[in-house]
Amino acid sequence: MRHTVATMTNPLLSKARTALVIGGGVAGPVAALALRKAGIDAQVFEAYRPGTGSRGGPLTLAANGLNALRLVGADVDVAAEGIPTPRMVIHSGSGKVLGTVESDPALPAVTTVSRGRIAEILQARAEAEGVPVVHGKRFEGAVDTGRSVIAQFDDHTTAEADVLIGCDGIRSAVRRLIDPAAPEPRYTGLIGLGGFIERRSTEGPAVPDTGGAFHMVFGRRAFFGHIGDGTRTGWFANLPYKRLDRDDLRATTYEQWIARLRTAFADDTGPMLRILDHVTPEAFIPALPLEDLPHVPVWSRGRIALVGDAAHATSPSSGQGASLAAESAVELARSLRDLPIAEAFTAYERGRRARVERVIAEAARTNQSKAAGPLAARFRDALMPFFMSRFATPERSAWQHGYTIDW
Ligand SMILES: Cc1cc2nc3c(=O)[nH]c(=O)nc-3n(C[C@H](O)[C@H](O)[C@H](O)COP(=O)(O)OP(=O)(O)OC[C@H]3O[C@@H](n4cnc5c(N)ncnc54)[C@H](O)[C@@H]3O)c2cc1C
Repeated sequence: MRHTVATMTNPLLSKARTALVIGGGVAGPVAALALRKAGIDAQVFEAYRPGTGSRGGPLTLAANGLNALRLVGADVDVAAEGIPTPRMVIHSGSGKVLGTVESDPALPAVTTVSRGRIAEILQARAEAEGVPVVHGKRFEGAVDTGRSVIAQFDDHTTAEADVLIGCDGIRSAVRRLIDPAAPEPRYTGLIGLGGFIERRSTEGPAVPDTGGAFHMVFGRRAFFGHIGDGTRTGWFANLPYKRLDRDDLRATTYEQWIARLRTAFADDTGPMLRILDHVTPEAFIPALPLEDLPHVPVWSRGRIALVGDAAHATSPSSGQGASLAAESAVELARSLRDLPIAEAFTAYERGRRARVERVIAEAARTNQSKAAGPLAARFRDALMPFFMSRFATPERSAWQHGYTIDW
């Protein structure tokens, strides 16, 4: 079956009327919804079949991400499934509270969802708005005809439109196509594991309701985060893992991971071991190397542009990757609404690059404190209360969380 978006001849000096969106994660469905709002017909092409990615650890959508989702009518769907998260509480491994970060009540309420569910929610919203989301289409290449762009998929089908938007994540094939010299993701020295524990009715809550607080623990050997609303508990752990050995990660069994986590948190104060007691293999996401892309030099070429992690992946420590992906998706659509293709891509990158690279750099600094040695950890725990009270305030983070898009 061939999927083709009908297109009239359209040079780069014209405005786009049709778009192919590669990737149905966060950026893809949001871009398609925003393009549609901008009067541009878009289709989403996703490599995986539905239902294959519904598991995941907790993903927090910040106010700026929810503001972007609101512009495409997807904020309510996401919030409906999320755990409201107005507060983050930071603890040391000895149980001392190092600081509390309250969300700005004037901004949309921060929410935490399962990382696997977010794509499903956004795809469903796109489909409800009439955007076709085609699954099982792995993008392999594209040809710029001078008048249009033709995408090629692994099932030998093609699709054609005025522009192609690469929303295919941190290992983007679209990025490699527009710049074969593009950097590869940078490993942070940490691996991430996690999941969502659902309450089974007869057993009561796995861990107490955290009352909207996402608790983060700088343990002696590893970092732990958890939030629970009494029926679900989202948790994650970041373990320092200096030399990335993907074979070791793949070969490590579920039981071995749980044992490693138990050892890592054995000497810390907090609910880590109690939460691990409730983890099951079905609700467990095995270790992923945590990566980022501090600087992707080429964001667009000809009729093709990148959005989301494909262009600007931040490590999870920022809690901003999905929010920035949603922002970029809407901003690109806005530029394509107002400007001819070439100018739109330039304006989009000019408006986004400094902001996203600043977030990525800040997250990289946080990663260092998660992997601190014993001496650095003592300094961190001693100094953090002072820095948190001075700098972790709504005013100081307004540049990040208060960002709004003037649609
Ligand atoms: C452990 C972890 C925790 C995180 N926690 C948070 C958090 O709390 N808050 C936050 O904001 N962010 C968080 N992030 C980051 C966030 O998940 C990403 O920034 C966000 O998902 C980026 O969206 P995206 O659409 O650009 O990419 P993705 O969500 O990765 O979506 C890319 C999509 O493209 C598809 N695809 C890939 N290749 C192809 C191809 N060739 N053809 C077709 N389709 C393709 C993929 O299947 C996928 O569906 C976390 C990330 C990790 C790894």
